[in-house]
Amino acid sequence: MKEINSSEFEKEVLQAGKVVLDFYSTECPPCEALSSKFDILSTLYGKDVKFLKMYRQGNRELADKLGVKSSPTLLFFDNGKEVAGRLAGGVKRKDIIQNLDSMLPAETVSKISSQIKPTISEYDVIILGAGPGGLTAGLYLCQSKINTVLIDIALPGGHVSTTHEVSNYPGFIEPQAGYLLSHNMSEQTKLCGTVYKVAVDVTKVDLEKKEVIIDEYETIRAKKIIIATGTTPNLTGAPGEKELKGKGISYCATCDAKYFDGKEAVVIGGGNSAIEESEYITRFVNKLTIVHQFDKFTGNKQAQDKVFNNPKINILFENEPRAFIRDGEKIITEIENVKTKERQKLVTDGVFIFIGMKPNIELFKGNLKLDQWGYIKADEDMRTSIPGIFAVGDVTSKKYRQITTAVADGTIAAMAIAKEMD
Ligand SMILES: Cc1cc2nc3c(=O)[nH]c(=O)nc-3n(C[C@H](O)[C@H](O)[C@H](O)COP(=O)(O)OP(=O)(O)OC[C@H]3O[C@@H](n4cnc5c(N)ncnc54)[C@H](O)[C@@H]3O)c2cc1C
Repeated sequence: MKEINSSEFEKEVLQAGKVVLDFYSTECPPCEALSSKFDILSTLYGKDVKFLKMYRQGNRELADKLGVKSSPTLLFFDNGKEVAGRLAGGVKRKDIIQNLDSMLPAETVSKISSQIKPTISEYDVIILGAGPGGLTAGLYLCQSKINTVLIDIALPGGHVSTTHEVSNYPGFIEPQAGYLLSHNMSEQTKLCGTVYKVAVDVTKVDLEKKEVIIDEYETIRAKKIIIATGTTPNLTGAPGEKELKGKGISYCATCDAKYFDGKEAVVIGGGNSAIEESEYITRFVNKLTIVHQFDKFTGNKQAQDKVFNNPKINILFENEPRAFIRDGEKIITEIENVKTKERQKLVTDGVFIFIGMKPNIELFKGNLKLDQWGYIKADEDMRTSIPGIFAVGDVTSKKYRQITTAVADGTIAAMAIAKEMD
């Protein structure tokens, strides 16, 4: 694959036929995650599409002119014109293939597809999920010289990477930016030598056979599997929520609160996340209304006091959302008092929903024992009901879900595995 600079852009890209150009940066984990996929695809598609890369920082003027704002960003060109959609961040193999295929005639696409050979690789341990639980297990296994692969459907970090500040992770006097804490955890595990396969599609998981298929063609086998897939936020289920998700309704204050500077927003929820994130959101908004279904909060006392004393926050207890409606630039949150059934409309600029989580276990149907809420039951060594399968972190049945509890689980599972493999 050829590396070019901005002076060669005209000749190598605009005056060429079909081109895919990767704007990359150094010290950029998603760029590293893309690089191996890009290499493999360049050998498959290289005869029909030219694969190029350009160092973004060194060619900033051109990157800015093209509107490339993050690394990596993949741009596709056909005879000097940009085609297909741009891909950025945790780019998946199947999305690159989709774009490449859209540039080529059907016969070429089917010829290339027939050349894709399935691969099989073997490790001692597969870890599914690169949040704090999976990353810690990866670190301990690696330090015990156990051959481990860490697989994630997204980039490493889990929930921590989207948490604005972490002030309760021991060892840091000052609160740590969540993305930085998770980046450091990930780099420590990667530097040790754990193999990373991130931003991939997990196509199939067979816990009995201890086999995982990623990106449809890559089979990975191991002697043990650690499930560390965490949780996903619950939806309220009110009409309009799905349609407005990412278009005014958010589940991540760190990601989106900054867009509400000087504006007004609603928070739905009353647990730890809801009240802690509300406090954060008031750094930006002028007014915040918290809507909670019960008559009191369930979050920690200290955070509750902050919320009660925050002049920007108005609290509506015993109310539930019934609908979310877009009205021009505004979002109308229709709420209902659970006792009086009276309805009212809150007209604000956006809505944040923090009403709990559900465990990510869809791919592991089978003999795994779950609790009544669908969390995986594990014993004190983090063993599940299936021999050789361990589960750690938020996906397990437990009372408290924190970074510290997830890293503790990861430690225990890895040490139990290391002992077994002695
Ligand atoms: C908004 C918010 C703020 C928080 N603040 C704090 C805090 O200040 N302090 C604190 O201690 N805790 C905090 N927590 C809780 C903490 O983030 C979690 O307890 C912790 O991240 C759990 O780690 P985990 O590894 O179990 O799961 P996660 O962090 O959820 O990571 C799971 C990983 O698995 C991946 N995955 C999912 N499905 C699959 C699949 N099928 N195959 C492969 N990979 C998969 C995901 O992409 C993800 O990377 C917060 C949580 C939230 C949501």
